[in-house]
Amino acid sequence: MRTGIATVCLSGTLKEKMQACAIAGFDGIEIFEQDLVTSPLSPEDVRAMAADLGLGLDLYQPFRDFDGVTAELLKANLRRAEAKFKLMSRLGMDTILVCSNVATATIDDDELRASQLAQLAALAGEHGVKVAYEALAWGKHVNDYEHAHRLVEMVDHPNLGTCLDSFHILSRDWDTAPIEDFNADKIFFVQVADAPKLSMDVLSWSRHYRVFPGEGQFELAKFMGHVVRAGYTGPVSLEVFNDVFRQSDVERTAVDAMRSLIWLEEQSAKWLESTSAEAAAGSVPASRRRYPMELATLPKVSEPAGFNFAEVKADDTARLEKLLGQLGFGFEGRHRTKDVQLWTMGQARVIINEQAASHSEPAIAALGFDVDSPVIASARAQQLKAPVVQRRVQADEEVFQGICAPDSTEIFLCQGSPDGTAAWTHEFGEGLEHPGSGNRAVIDHVNLAQPWQHFDEAVLFYTSALALEPQPFAEVPSPSGLVRSQVMQTTDGAVRLVLNLAPAQQASAQQAQSARKSYQEHIAFAVDDLVATARSARDRGLEFLQIPANYYEDLDARFDLEPGFLATLKELNLLYDRDADGEFLHFYTATVGSVFFEMVERRGNYGGYGAPNAPVRHAVQYDHLHRN
Ligand code: MG
Ligand code: MG
Repeated sequence: MRTGIATVCLSGTLKEKMQACAIAGFDGIEIFEQDLVTSPLSPEDVRAMAADLGLGLDLYQPFRDFDGVTAELLKANLRRAEAKFKLMSRLGMDTILVCSNVATATIDDDELRASQLAQLAALAGEHGVKVAYEALAWGKHVNDYEHAHRLVEMVDHPNLGTCLDSFHILSRDWDTAPIEDFNADKIFFVQVADAPKLSMDVLSWSRHYRVFPGEGQFELAKFMGHVVRAGYTGPVSLEVFNDVFRQSDVERTAVDAMRSLIWLEEQSAKWLESTSAEAAAGSVPASRRRYPMELATLPKVSEPAGFNFAEVKADDTARLEKLLGQLGFGFEGRHRTKDVQLWTMGQARVIINEQAASHSEPAIAALGFDVDSPVIASARAQQLKAPVVQRRVQADEEVFQGICAPDSTEIFLCQGSPDGTAAWTHEFGEGLEHPGSGNRAVIDHVNLAQPWQHFDEAVLFYTSALALEPQPFAEVPSPSGLVRSQVMQTTDGAVRLVLNLAPAQQASAQQAQSARKSYQEHIAFAVDDLVATARSARDRGLEFLQIPANYYEDLDARFDLEPGFLATLKELNLLYDRDADGEFLHFYTATVGSVFFEMVERRGNYGGYGAPNAPVRHAVQYDHLHRN
């Protein structure tokens, strides 16, 4: 698959954008006119630089408001087009994007449009240029890709084809299956963008909220599958207008973009295989080889089976040790060669890492996931351009395959075992004390705060590298603003990550104190009997997050709870939720550094996180923060 990206996706100057695209490994780029017009580089300079960087200049865009106009306007439009064709010759480019008319079309007549497009194609032919005609979702008369294709077929000129843009097609919910019947020679260009499902006008949705494939909710593998079946072999190019990407680090965004195409390529191959007739018949051919476009695949991925451990980095570990002890964790000992402690409760393992943690407040630093094969999982992540984490190990110690998540949390891919034990724990000395609470605890979920500029990148990272499935996002009210909350989880719920995008105000206030982890994050442990766990923790002197009395009145009004149970919840500062699938009990500890802990009990098949209680938690924590 030939990969491409429009310069409009990225921040910086044209030169910076082109360099970032080359570093990220793109085959080609689309030059967005504005980037050229504002550049000090001459067209010849751009051409030479692209050649040096090994970048194809695949599409010049956009040329707007051409068709369906009066004879007088047509003359002016052809003159305008010829100027661009001449410019393209200086750039060494041969394909231009022409969008369906949104502003100046006054005549809604396909015969007239076809004759005007035929004149444009003839002129383009004289300059060796190919015109890719695209139906904008908000085009005045042409807003449907099949309509644009019909016009191209009517004109039937070798210099006129169509551009298929997934946003314009999927935002309108057009069926993508008819693409398969298109003549591949008439598809000149393919642009891909994903987007969250939003209800708003399509123009604003398109200009501000497009995201890279895998970061939104469009069925892009299916779209691409139809394109591949049509026989298309040209560039597959990202065209993503997004307010955040346009102000983020250019090289990083280019890598995120490349990751999305590598992932989409694999997903498209999988979609083709799963929908091919042969697959239905039970044979397993390499069906993608039957299509002219070669689709690369990746090392296979399966969902992680569970959390292997969570690691908190801390300089002053006393408060953390106290908190874990009060919760019922046992100290298993120190690592024999490193300044690292291991604490466990059942199969929940927490590592306190004192190495290189000087002057840093306790913060979640790493997560271990149980996978089938750490080597395959690591190879996959690296092919998806995840940065590798280097950790020093002694000769006889377990070597972890580690990658770095977008928020800089280190992700370790660990060998899972059927009984949930971890081989590396023998590297820790005999435990000095072991309260043995008898709790069959596991890590239930981990809640990570995401910097605003890396939120979408994080969704794609966990989707593509770890096969976590994004759930529909929620917005949770807090005193400092709405917190966008995105759950990423495995099908069976054994791994649940909650990515929170904190309000900007909260971020900036705390960023002053700590450059890295700027908001509160937590690790939640599931136990069998939360009430008993809470009572023991209280007896050990645990400081609970104090829940206001108003909460319990509201809870009673909503659920009509048995009075004794309600009194217990109130007495122990427990929160409660219930839905059709089951019940959820949980409590929170006070915060140490940027970390706090949560204990949960899931009854029945409750699959959520107590979302109705999240605003209460945010409000109480806000109160604490501002009192201290
Ligand atoms: Mg487009
Ligand atoms: Mg939670």
